[in-house]
Amino acid sequence: MAERFQVIIAGAGPVGTVAAYRLATMGIKVLLLESASHCTEDLRASTFHAATLDMMEELGVLDELEQQGLRAPVYQYRNRRTEEILEFDLGEIADEVRHPYRLQCEQYKLSRLLAARLLAMDDKSVRFSHRIVHFEQSATGVRVHAEAPLAIEAFDADYLIAADGANSIVRKWLGVKFDGFTYPEKFLTLSTSWPLEKHFNQLAYVNYIADPEEWCVLLRVPSVWRVLVPAAETDEDSWLLSDEKKNQVFDGLCSDGAAVRTPHRTVYRVHQRVAQTFRMGRVLLTGDSAHLNNPLGGLGMNSGIHDVWNLTDKLRQIYFDKAQAELLLDRYDRQRRTTVTEFVQAQTISNKQVLEDGDIEAQARQQGRMAELLADADRRRDYMLTQSMVKSLKREAAIA
Ligand SMILES: Cc1cc2nc3c(=O)[nH]c(=O)nc-3n(C[C@H](O)[C@H](O)[C@H](O)COP(=O)(O)OP(=O)(O)OC[C@H]3O[C@@H](n4cnc5c(N)ncnc54)[C@H](O)[C@@H]3O)c2cc1C
Repeated sequence: MAERFQVIIAGAGPVGTVAAYRLATMGIKVLLLESASHCTEDLRASTFHAATLDMMEELGVLDELEQQGLRAPVYQYRNRRTEEILEFDLGEIADEVRHPYRLQCEQYKLSRLLAARLLAMDDKSVRFSHRIVHFEQSATGVRVHAEAPLAIEAFDADYLIAADGANSIVRKWLGVKFDGFTYPEKFLTLSTSWPLEKHFNQLAYVNYIADPEEWCVLLRVPSVWRVLVPAAETDEDSWLLSDEKKNQVFDGLCSDGAAVRTPHRTVYRVHQRVAQTFRMGRVLLTGDSAHLNNPLGGLGMNSGIHDVWNLTDKLRQIYFDKAQAELLLDRYDRQRRTTVTEFVQAQTISNKQVLEDGDIEAQARQQGRMAELLADADRRRDYMLTQSMVKSLKREAAIA
C-alpha cells in the first residue's frame, strides 16, 4: 500500500521548501519529493524583498538568512555613458515595512536551511533522489509516482503542490498552457570575487546600469559579484562562455578583463509566461512551474514564495477551520494568477525596457523620467513600495 500524506510537494527549490516547512509547522503531514540528491547550489535568485522578509521572519528563519546575506538598503540605476547615478533608499518606506532593505542572499541557502529543518522534525518528510514521473487524481486524492534509486515508488495525498520549476512535469501532465513569450536574446551571467566596487564611484550592492549597446546588472552576494549582460540570439554559447567574451565584458567594467577570474559562467534564455490556471482539481501550481519572468527586479523567487504563502494559508483554513476547499483553492488561483499577471509580468517587462532603450537619446529621455520620479516624494515612495512587493500583496488581498 502507498504511504499516505496530507500534502505532497514536488521540488525542493525555494518555493517547495517554504511550502513544505510552513505546512509542517502548522501540523500538516507533508512529503517533499526532490529529483536531485540535495538542494542544488545554483546561482540564481539573490534578492529577498521587504515583503518576503516579513514572511521569513514569521517562518523563524530570518536571523539565519541575515547571517548568510548582506543588507542592501539602497539600489541604484546608473547610466554607463553619463555616469549619472539615481539612488533609491528603502529607509524611506520604514514606516510601512519591518525590513526596509533587500537581503542579498543566494536562494539555495534558504532551501538548504528549510530542508534541514524539515528533516530534523521528521526524517521521512523529505526524499531526495525521488523524481516525480507521473500522478493521477480522483475525487478523494492524488497518487504520485516517483522514480527512486531502486524502484518506482507510489505515495498518496489529499493535494499535490507543484514547485518543480520552469520545466514542471506536473504542469505538462495537466496539459495546462503556458502563455507568453520568450525573449529573442540570451542572458549571460558571470560571477567574480574581483573587487568591482573599486572601479565605480559609490557602487551599491544592487545596481542596474543602462547603456544603449550593452546594459548590465551588478549584484553583490556575500561570496561574489554577479554580472548579468544580454547577448545576441545568434551568438554561440561556446563564444559567450569563452575567456574572450569574459575579457570583453570586464574590460568594459574595470578595464583589465583578462585579470578577472570567474568561477561561474551561465547562458540562459528568458521567458515571460503565466500558466492558464494555477489549479486543476487537487493539484496546485506554484513558483516557476506557474509563471516565469526576466530576472530584472528580482521578482521570480519572491513571487513564488508569495504563491505558497497564500496557498498554505488556504490549506490551513481547509484543514483546521473546515473551510470549503473548492472556494478557497479557486480563490488561490484568482488571487495569485491576477497578481502575477498584473504586477510581476508588467513590472519585469518594464524594468528591462528602462535599461535597454535602443539609442542614446531614447535612453536620456528614459533616464530623465526616472530622475523626475526620484525627485517626486510621493511617486518615489510608490515606486519603492511596488518594487518591494508590498503593493502586490495588498492587491492580492483585495481580489475576492
Ligand atoms: C540568473 C537568474 C537570476 C535570478 N535572480 C532572481 C532574484 O534576484 N530574485 C528572485 O526573486 N528571482 C530570481 N530569479 C528567479 C528564481 O531563480 C526562480 O524564480 C526560483 O528559483 C523559482 O523557484 P522554484 O522553487 O519555483 O523553482 P526551482 O528553483 O527551479 O526549483 C525546482 C526544484 O524542483 C526539482 N524538480 C524538478 N523536476 C522535478 C521532478 N519531476 N520531481 C521532483 N523534483 C523535481 C528541481 O530539481 C528543483 O530543485 C533568477 C533567475 C535566474 C535564472
